[in-house]
Amino acid sequence: MRYVSTRGQAPELGFADVLLAGLATDGGLYVPDHWPTLPSLPTGSYADLAAAVMAPFVDGEIDEAAFAAMCRDAYSTFRHPATVPLVQIGPDEWVMELFHGPTLAFKDVALQLVGRLFDHVLSARGERVMIVGATSGDTGSAAIDGVKSCDNVDIVILYPQGRVSDVQRRQMTTVDAPNVHTVAIDGTFDDCQDLVKAMFNDAAFRGDMNLSAVNSINWARVMAQIVYYVAASDALGDQPVSFSVPTGNFGNVLAGWIAREMGVPAHSLIVGSNTNDILTRFFESQAMVADGVVPTLSPSMDIQVSSNFERLLFEMNDRDGGATADQMALFRTSGRMSVEADQYANWIEPVFRAARSDDADTLATMASVYRESGMLIDPHTAVGVSAARRQREAGVPVVTMATAHPAKFPDAVKKATGVHPALPEHLSDLLERPERTTPLPNDLARVQAFVRSVARR
Ligand SMILES: *Cc1c(COP(=O)(O)O)cnc(C)c1O
Repeated sequence: MRYVSTRGQAPELGFADVLLAGLATDGGLYVPDHWPTLPSLPTGSYADLAAAVMAPFVDGEIDEAAFAAMCRDAYSTFRHPATVPLVQIGPDEWVMELFHGPTLAFKDVALQLVGRLFDHVLSARGERVMIVGATSGDTGSAAIDGVKSCDNVDIVILYPQGRVSDVQRRQMTTVDAPNVHTVAIDGTFDDCQDLVKAMFNDAAFRGDMNLSAVNSINWARVMAQIVYYVAASDALGDQPVSFSVPTGNFGNVLAGWIAREMGVPAHSLIVGSNTNDILTRFFESQAMVADGVVPTLSPSMDIQVSSNFERLLFEMNDRDGGATADQMALFRTSGRMSVEADQYANWIEPVFRAARSDDADTLATMASVYRESGMLIDPHTAVGVSAARRQREAGVPVVTMATAHPAKFPDAVKKATGVHPALPEHLSDLLERPERTTPLPNDLARVQAFVRSVARR
């Protein structure tokens, strides 16, 4: 399998190079040069299914037995024998719990595997990387947990001091591993992001440290998410099923679209947004128009643009990288782009539906699911359930992707249901574990000096 850039100017690469590169050199995102069809599915564990479904994407680059072992190791960290259990909440209505991983969010599904893939590829090449990232809460802990056992990866995560919740901070600062470092920046999340950008833009520093990132645009993250759509469809007996996905950067729902291209009988893909609804407005108006970001109860979906959408746009342009690059350039300068009526009719209309939930609707959905089924859901999942209930078609089962454990958002859950969701057993002593973090001012030179000082050479 070879990979091409959505902007058509970067060299074609194999899987291992795409994994380490993240972004393509022309600013585009890597996609496989064709969509493979699903292999015949093994019976047995989720890890076995994962190895089979992803095999065509790593073919020729990662040894088959080694890849199967990485999948087993990655998913052994999930605290449920089904890894991603499917739970029924109504007639023909299901949620798939993607949050049984170490940090209680669906990002673990991808990052537990991606950390192991990084270590495998780097050790084969005799290389090391330093991952730097900024977090406003959830991605930082999932990235840290994904790489904490990697011999060839160091990680430094910056977070805004005093602006992440106790649970979120402790999920990062209590990880006791020699390659894991957190920095509490005296500033905002935007300051943290600017520091990370500045480190990447400093070519000498970037080269010295061999800087890397595990952004949601990394192909391997999207790839790992295809598997659970296959698992859900398989569990429901291969009948047509719709999927509802609480959406931010479009990575999760894009994985559903790819699963459909590979042969999963997905009827509709329902995109749920919160008040930051650039995607829902696109699906309604055929125009992508950037707007400001407002904080909501579902912070992991508080985005201004959905970067993974570029991969679907590339398909809508019949894989013309030049046309995609032009559209993205227009969007960057004007904050606006639209697609042709026939593109919309061919690619969007038959598959995608969309709906938005404001905070009041999110709380009402959490309350009604609890009243009806006794199940506590987190605010992100509630956005998905609400969209599913408004956009589903009679007679077609619908599966909502449950992207976070309710205990990650205890205040919203308590407000909606009156119930305080307990942390699962393995995290119940989180608030007593010793923390390790380094407070630093919002100062590039100081942060760079810190990164240099912790790099294991
Ligand atoms: C990241 C995240 C999302 C959004 O997923 P995308 O792939 O960016 O669309 C939704 N819910 C939770 C809990 C998340 O952490």
